[in-house]
Amino acid sequence: MEKLAIEGGTPVRDTKLYYGHQYIDDADIQAVVDVLKSDYLTCGPKIGELEEKLCQVTGAKYAVVCSNGTAALHIACLAAGVGPGDEVITTPITFAASANCALYCGAKPVFADINEKTYNIDPKQVAEKITENTKAVVGVSYTGQSIEEEDLLELCHKHGALLIEDGAHVIGTKYKGKPNGSIADMTTLSFHPVKTVTSGEGGAVLTNREDLYQKLLLFRAHGITRDPALMSKEPDGGWYYEQVDLGYNYRMTDMQAALLISQLDKLPLFSARRKEIVAKYNAAFEKLPQIFVQQEIPESDTTRHLYILRIKPETLTTDRRGIFDALAGENIMCNVHYIPTYYFPYYQKLGYEKGLCPKAEKLYAEMLSLPLYYSMTDQDVEDVIHAVNKVIARYAK
Ligand SMILES: *Cc1c(COP(=O)(O)O)cnc(C)c1O
Repeated sequence: MEKLAIEGGTPVRDTKLYYGHQYIDDADIQAVVDVLKSDYLTCGPKIGELEEKLCQVTGAKYAVVCSNGTAALHIACLAAGVGPGDEVITTPITFAASANCALYCGAKPVFADINEKTYNIDPKQVAEKITENTKAVVGVSYTGQSIEEEDLLELCHKHGALLIEDGAHVIGTKYKGKPNGSIADMTTLSFHPVKTVTSGEGGAVLTNREDLYQKLLLFRAHGITRDPALMSKEPDGGWYYEQVDLGYNYRMTDMQAALLISQLDKLPLFSARRKEIVAKYNAAFEKLPQIFVQQEIPESDTTRHLYILRIKPETLTTDRRGIFDALAGENIMCNVHYIPTYYFPYYQKLGYEKGLCPKAEKLYAEMLSLPLYYSMTDQDVEDVIHAVNKVIARYAK
């Protein structure tokens, strides 16, 4: 503390500000309590109601809600037919689940590099990695900015692969005026508390394809069906069901579904506030020659989930670690999203080597995530901007 006090003087804030926080109001609480007083705690009416609402919000024809965003990626890969011997292309700048879902299916994750300005997977890099073994591309709409849907869809379909959008950050975003969720072959969502809307834990897969929808339903629930059309014979009686594939128990509870239905009512508010904060950050940081501001493709009307502060190390006397620690000294508690997936020991043991995606690695070395969430006050936002200016001035060459 003493060292920080000498270097930084009085911190910009006397309470800590974290990079994300959920926002729960009385309507959310009441919605959960109502379920607790009802007949169904799981597999009840809230599940169908939520799936309908997700279709309304995203424009997708079908929605399958499940236990979390990782389960959503897993059943999306299974529905795409991903299996042993197949390859799944994804970005290294993501949460590990975007690649782990390929491993769950016995397939091989293949990493394609990012566009250095938007930070999303670069379709040109995907084109270089795609082969006849590629079953799916998991494109992560990183920070909430849409992937280049049209280019990726065309590329995937030319090679007989499906485009799965990992949309854990993307709810509220539109691509060419259409909500993300209605564009890729499948889009997965996560409702973890740091995401834009939350159910505590939760996820969903969205699709316009009926065949994929039927598979998703099966993989979510043990591979079990009550639909006579999918059975091997006439049902023995009213109790009868069949397990026709190997699925999982990836169900969501009605408490979670009710919470999310209530949260979705606030999505327009959440989205507007996030855009407001991003605009303030961008305006402030565009003035700093030591900072690179993330670029947007014109097609994406983005509800930003993460705000990335990217330093230009050649203009500073310290590195990302120095800036991260100095901001912590000002009580601005940042995070880093993400460590390139193949840096992890598990992936290194599988044979992935550093140097695979140079642009992603450079971004990782230069970035940190600033606080960005709905309930930040204007003063909080000013504090972050003040702290960044103070810290950058201290280390500017
Ligand atoms: C949060 C997240 C996931 C996983 O979602 P969970 O609900 O935590 O399982 C997957 N991909 C990305 C990009 C995420 O941010």
